[in-house]
Amino acid sequence: MTDYAAPDLPAEILLIEDDPEIRRVLRTTLSLERYNLREASTAMEGMKTIASCQPDAIILDLGLPDKDGIEVIHQVRQWNKLLPILVLSVRSREQDKISALDAGADDFVNKPFAVGELLARLRVADRRSSSILTERMDAIFRIGEIDVDLARRKVTVAGEEVHLTRIEYKLLQILIRHADMVVTHSQLLNEAWGPNHGDQVHYLRVYMLQLRRKLEKDPARPRHLRTEPGIGYRLITEPLAR
Ligand code: CA
Repeated sequence: MTDYAAPDLPAEILLIEDDPEIRRVLRTTLSLERYNLREASTAMEGMKTIASCQPDAIILDLGLPDKDGIEVIHQVRQWNKLLPILVLSVRSREQDKISALDAGADDFVNKPFAVGELLARLRVADRRSSSILTERMDAIFRIGEIDVDLARRKVTVAGEEVHLTRIEYKLLQILIRHADMVVTHSQLLNEAWGPNHGDQVHYLRVYMLQLRRKLEKDPARPRHLRTEPGIGYRLITEPLAR
Protein backbone atom coordinates (compact mmCIF):
# COMPACT_ATOMS: atom_id res chain seq x y z
CA MET A 1 0.00 0.00 0.00
CA THR A 2 1.07 3.55 -0.65
CA ASP A 3 1.41 5.97 2.22
CA TYR A 4 -1.43 8.32 3.10
CA ALA A 5 0.67 11.42 3.73
CA ALA A 6 -0.84 13.47 0.92
CA PRO A 7 -4.59 12.83 0.81
CA ASP A 8 -5.11 14.94 -2.29
CA LEU A 9 -2.72 12.95 -4.45
CA PRO A 10 -4.42 10.43 -6.72
CA ALA A 11 -5.18 7.35 -4.72
CA GLU A 12 -5.97 4.05 -6.34
CA ILE A 13 -9.53 2.92 -5.78
CA LEU A 14 -10.91 -0.44 -6.72
CA LEU A 15 -14.58 -0.56 -7.64
CA ILE A 16 -16.12 -4.04 -7.52
CA GLU A 17 -19.54 -3.67 -9.11
CA ASP A 18 -21.37 -5.61 -11.81
CA ASP A 19 -23.66 -2.76 -12.89
CA PRO A 20 -21.95 -1.06 -15.89
CA GLU A 21 -23.97 2.14 -15.43
CA ILE A 22 -22.71 2.62 -11.85
CA ARG A 23 -19.17 1.88 -13.01
CA ARG A 24 -19.51 4.50 -15.74
CA VAL A 25 -20.77 7.19 -13.32
CA LEU A 26 -18.00 6.49 -10.81
CA ARG A 27 -15.33 6.32 -13.51
CA THR A 28 -16.24 9.85 -14.57
CA THR A 29 -16.60 11.42 -11.12
CA LEU A 30 -13.65 9.73 -9.45
CA SER A 31 -11.32 10.73 -12.25
CA LEU A 32 -12.48 14.35 -11.87
CA GLU A 33 -11.52 14.01 -8.20
CA ARG A 34 -8.10 12.73 -9.32
CA TYR A 35 -8.58 9.22 -8.07
CA ASN A 36 -7.28 6.36 -10.17
CA LEU A 37 -10.05 3.87 -10.63
CA ARG A 38 -9.64 0.16 -11.18
CA GLU A 39 -12.72 -1.83 -12.01
CA ALA A 40 -13.86 -5.39 -11.46
CA SER A 41 -17.30 -6.79 -12.25
CA THR A 42 -17.11 -9.99 -10.19
CA ALA A 43 -15.87 -10.92 -6.73
CA MET A 44 -13.22 -13.20 -8.25
CA GLU A 45 -11.89 -10.50 -10.52
CA GLY A 46 -11.96 -8.08 -7.56
CA MET A 47 -9.91 -10.37 -5.32
CA LYS A 48 -7.34 -10.86 -8.10
CA THR A 49 -7.06 -7.10 -8.61
CA ILE A 50 -6.64 -6.50 -4.86
CA ALA A 51 -3.77 -8.96 -4.79
CA SER A 52 -2.07 -7.61 -7.89
CA CYS A 53 -2.49 -3.82 -7.58
CA GLN A 54 -3.01 -3.25 -3.83
CA PRO A 55 -5.58 -0.43 -3.98
CA ASP A 56 -5.86 2.31 -1.34
CA ALA A 57 -9.59 1.80 -0.92
CA ILE A 58 -12.38 -0.46 -2.13
CA ILE A 59 -15.91 0.43 -3.18
CA LEU A 60 -17.86 -2.79 -3.10
CA ASP A 61 -21.27 -3.85 -4.35
CA LEU A 62 -22.84 -6.55 -2.17
CA GLY A 63 -24.85 -8.23 -4.92
CA LEU A 64 -22.20 -9.65 -7.23
CA PRO A 65 -22.88 -12.35 -9.83
CA ASP A 66 -20.42 -14.95 -8.51
CA LYS A 67 -20.23 -14.37 -4.76
CA ASP A 68 -21.72 -12.34 -1.98
CA GLY A 69 -19.78 -9.08 -1.44
CA ILE A 70 -19.65 -9.93 2.29
CA GLU A 71 -17.41 -12.87 1.39
CA VAL A 72 -15.00 -10.38 -0.23
CA ILE A 73 -14.95 -8.30 3.00
CA HIS A 74 -14.14 -11.39 5.08
CA GLN A 75 -11.28 -12.35 2.77
CA VAL A 76 -9.81 -8.84 2.65
CA ARG A 77 -9.98 -8.45 6.43
CA GLN A 78 -8.05 -11.67 6.96
CA TRP A 79 -4.92 -9.99 5.70
CA ASN A 80 -5.64 -6.29 5.87
CA LYS A 81 -7.52 -4.65 8.75
CA LEU A 82 -7.01 -1.09 7.58
CA LEU A 83 -7.88 -1.01 3.90
CA PRO A 84 -10.98 1.22 3.68
CA ILE A 85 -14.01 -0.66 2.37
CA LEU A 86 -17.12 1.27 1.40
CA VAL A 87 -20.17 -0.81 0.58
CA LEU A 88 -22.83 0.08 -2.02
CA SER A 89 -26.08 -1.21 -0.58
CA VAL A 90 -29.77 -1.31 -1.29
CA ARG A 91 -31.76 0.93 1.06
CA SER A 92 -34.27 -1.66 2.22
CA ARG A 93 -31.78 -4.45 2.96
CA GLU A 94 -30.76 -3.58 6.51
CA GLN A 95 -29.50 -7.08 7.35
CA ASP A 96 -27.04 -6.99 4.44
CA LYS A 97 -25.60 -3.71 5.68
CA ILE A 98 -25.29 -5.02 9.25
CA SER A 99 -23.52 -8.16 8.02
CA ALA A 100 -21.18 -6.10 5.86
CA LEU A 101 -20.30 -3.73 8.71
CA ASP A 102 -19.85 -6.57 11.19
CA ALA A 103 -17.59 -8.32 8.65
CA GLY A 104 -15.37 -5.23 8.70
CA ALA A 105 -16.67 -2.80 6.08
CA ASP A 106 -16.09 0.81 7.14
CA ASP A 107 -19.36 2.26 5.95
CA PHE A 108 -22.11 2.03 3.37
CA VAL A 109 -23.80 4.26 0.83
CA ASN A 110 -27.36 3.51 -0.26
CA LYS A 111 -28.14 3.13 -3.96
CA PRO A 112 -29.04 5.34 -5.70
CA PHE A 113 -26.34 7.45 -4.09
CA ALA A 114 -25.29 11.07 -4.37
CA VAL A 115 -21.70 11.12 -5.59
CA GLY A 116 -20.82 13.86 -3.08
CA GLU A 117 -21.94 11.64 -0.23
CA LEU A 118 -19.94 8.71 -1.54
CA LEU A 119 -16.79 10.85 -1.82
CA ALA A 120 -17.30 12.24 1.68
CA ARG A 121 -17.69 8.73 3.14
CA LEU A 122 -14.60 7.62 1.27
CA ARG A 123 -12.56 10.50 2.71
CA VAL A 124 -13.76 9.69 6.25
CA ALA A 125 -12.82 6.02 5.86
CA ASP A 126 -9.44 7.00 4.44
CA ARG A 127 -8.80 9.47 7.25
CA ARG A 128 -9.56 6.83 9.86
CA SER A 129 -7.21 4.41 8.20
CA SER A 130 -4.41 7.01 8.00
CA SER A 131 -4.89 8.17 11.61
CA ILE A 132 -4.51 4.55 12.74
CA LEU A 133 -1.44 4.16 10.55
CA THR A 134 0.26 7.22 11.98
CA GLU A 135 -1.28 6.76 15.47
CA ARG A 136 -2.20 10.39 15.66
CA MET A 137 -5.39 10.35 17.67
CA ASP A 138 -5.91 13.85 19.02
CA ALA A 139 -5.69 14.08 22.80
CA ILE A 140 -8.75 16.31 22.78
CA PHE A 141 -11.52 15.29 20.46
CA ARG A 142 -13.84 18.14 19.54
CA ILE A 143 -17.40 17.59 18.35
CA GLY A 144 -19.12 20.96 18.02
CA GLU A 145 -19.37 22.29 21.57
CA ILE A 146 -18.41 18.94 23.07
CA ASP A 147 -14.77 18.43 24.08
CA VAL A 148 -13.59 14.97 25.01
CA ASP A 149 -10.20 14.84 26.69
CA LEU A 150 -9.22 11.29 25.85
CA ALA A 151 -6.15 11.28 28.10
CA ARG A 152 -7.97 12.56 31.19
CA ARG A 153 -11.36 11.00 30.33
CA LYS A 154 -12.96 14.39 30.85
CA VAL A 155 -15.96 15.60 28.88
CA THR A 156 -17.12 19.20 28.68
CA VAL A 157 -20.06 20.76 26.85
CA ALA A 158 -19.64 24.48 26.11
CA GLY A 159 -16.92 24.55 28.77
CA GLU A 160 -19.05 22.90 31.48
CA GLU A 161 -17.84 19.55 32.74
CA VAL A 162 -20.31 16.70 32.25
CA HIS A 163 -20.15 13.50 34.27
CA LEU A 164 -20.58 10.33 32.27
CA THR A 165 -20.97 6.86 33.72
CA ARG A 166 -18.35 4.28 32.81
CA ILE A 167 -20.54 2.71 30.12
CA GLU A 168 -21.64 6.08 28.72
CA TYR A 169 -18.00 7.11 28.37
CA LYS A 170 -17.11 3.77 26.81
CA LEU A 171 -19.86 4.15 24.20
CA LEU A 172 -18.74 7.68 23.42
CA GLN A 173 -15.15 6.45 23.09
CA ILE A 174 -16.17 3.74 20.60
CA LEU A 175 -18.15 6.25 18.54
CA ILE A 176 -15.18 8.64 18.56
CA ARG A 177 -12.91 5.88 17.31
CA HIS A 178 -15.30 5.44 14.39
CA ALA A 179 -16.11 9.16 14.08
CA ASP A 180 -18.45 9.94 11.18
CA MET A 181 -18.87 6.27 10.40
CA VAL A 182 -21.71 3.99 11.28
CA VAL A 183 -21.19 1.57 14.18
CA THR A 184 -23.60 -1.38 14.41
CA HIS A 185 -25.58 -2.31 17.52
CA SER A 186 -23.58 -5.49 17.97
CA GLN A 187 -20.20 -3.70 17.60
CA LEU A 188 -21.23 -1.26 20.34
CA LEU A 189 -22.68 -3.95 22.61
CA ASN A 190 -19.69 -6.26 22.21
CA GLU A 191 -17.16 -3.53 22.88
CA ALA A 192 -18.98 -1.84 25.75
CA TRP A 193 -20.46 -4.84 27.59
CA GLY A 194 -18.55 -7.83 26.26
CA PRO A 195 -19.23 -10.65 23.83
CA ASN A 196 -22.39 -12.09 25.41
CA HIS A 197 -24.59 -9.04 25.11
CA GLY A 198 -24.80 -8.77 21.34
CA ASP A 199 -28.59 -8.99 21.21
CA GLN A 200 -29.47 -6.55 23.96
CA VAL A 201 -30.21 -3.56 21.78
CA HIS A 202 -32.56 -2.07 24.42
CA TYR A 203 -29.51 -1.39 26.68
CA LEU A 204 -28.09 0.74 23.94
CA ARG A 205 -31.26 2.71 23.41
CA VAL A 206 -31.34 3.63 27.10
CA TYR A 207 -27.69 4.63 27.23
CA MET A 208 -27.80 6.59 23.99
CA LEU A 209 -30.79 8.52 25.35
CA GLN A 210 -28.78 9.37 28.46
CA LEU A 211 -25.76 10.39 26.40
CA ARG A 212 -27.93 12.66 24.26
CA ARG A 213 -29.47 14.26 27.34
CA LYS A 214 -26.01 15.00 28.68
CA LEU A 215 -24.30 16.07 25.46
CA GLU A 216 -26.85 17.37 22.98
CA LYS A 217 -28.51 20.80 23.03
CA ASP A 218 -31.75 19.29 21.77
CA PRO A 219 -31.70 15.59 22.70
CA ALA A 220 -34.88 14.95 20.72
CA ARG A 221 -33.14 16.21 17.57
CA PRO A 222 -29.52 15.20 18.06
CA ARG A 223 -26.91 16.88 15.87
CA HIS A 224 -24.06 14.54 16.70
CA LEU A 225 -25.29 11.28 18.24
CA ARG A 226 -27.37 10.07 15.32
CA THR A 227 -29.43 6.92 14.91
CA GLU A 228 -28.95 4.79 11.80
CA PRO A 229 -32.40 3.16 11.84
CA GLY A 230 -32.24 -0.60 12.18
CA ILE A 231 -28.42 -0.62 12.04
CA GLY A 232 -26.73 1.35 14.80
CA TYR A 233 -25.39 4.81 15.56
CA ARG A 234 -23.14 7.39 13.96
CA LEU A 235 -21.23 10.21 15.64
CA ILE A 236 -21.39 13.17 13.27
CA THR A 237 -18.47 15.54 13.81
CA GLU A 238 -19.03 17.73 10.78
CA PRO A 239 -21.74 18.01 8.12
CA LEU A 240 -21.10 15.94 5.01
CA ALA A 241 -20.13 17.79 1.86
CA ARG A 242 -22.79 17.13 -0.77
CA1 CA B 1 -25.00 -5.87 -8.25
